Amino acid sequence: MKHETPSRVFPRRLEARFAGSAASPAQFPQDGLPEVAFLGRSNVGKSSLLNALAATRRLAHVSQTPGRTRLVNFFRASVERPGSRKLDELYLVDLPGYGYAKAPREVRESFEELALSYLLEREALRLAVFIVDVRHEPSERDHQLREFLDGNELPWALAANKVDALSKNEARTRVRALEAGIGLTSAGVVPVSAEKGLGLGELWSLIRAVALDSPAAPERQALAIRGDDGRN
Ligand code: GDP
Repeated sequence: MKHETPSRVFPRRLEARFAGSAASPAQFPQDGLPEVAFLGRSNVGKSSLLNALAATRRLAHVSQTPGRTRLVNFFRASVERPGSRKLDELYLVDLPGYGYAKAPREVRESFEELALSYLLEREALRLAVFIVDVRHEPSERDHQLREFLDGNELPWALAANKVDALSKNEARTRVRALEAGIGLTSAGVVPVSAEKGLGLGELWSLIRAVALDSPAAPERQALAIRGDDGRN
């Protein structure tokens, strides 16, 4: 126990369940629990990562069922606080993926709009986890999203998924490049593998530090009022 780094271990007790889908902000939960949103291009492994974080194979399956891929899906999680038996409650929020090249433009715009209004207006949002495939160069759309997160002073972190598919050296080089490219408000880059369960303790500890252990950021409220581009 003495040598364990409690801040980087996977929660000892963790339960998560699907809590509902929303097609509009009116359907978002009303109970004010802290929320951690997951976003990324389709195929980066968002569902796999949500499942891995919740230590289940089935949780985010529901997000992939037809009709749900364009909704905002909420998973309610209880996680044990390190060194205590207390459980903290939060929502893991699956935001609609972006970059569905095949979706008609109107459809694409409508679900991006829901994701954007969630990011800009949601007071309960404590952290946005932006997932990328560590093997790929960031796309133009990735850059835009990063600028959007920074520009709106959203607390966000980058999860570099699929590190198992690279050698240790390659992964290190890619992660350094990602670190060099992230902006001011990012809480950092966490290399992960949803498939092999790598980096999940680190990601949970970051989620805990930003979303559960620090006081709610009052500026979120101001952000919601400021409107679309988040600037005065
Ligand atoms: P989503 O569209 O972002 O929800 O992505 P999925 O979770 O459905 O995963 C897309 C593909 O990436 C699937 O074939 C997964 O098996 C694969 N994948 C997801 N996570 C990992 C990972 O950590 N490593 C590797 N090698 N493949 C992964």
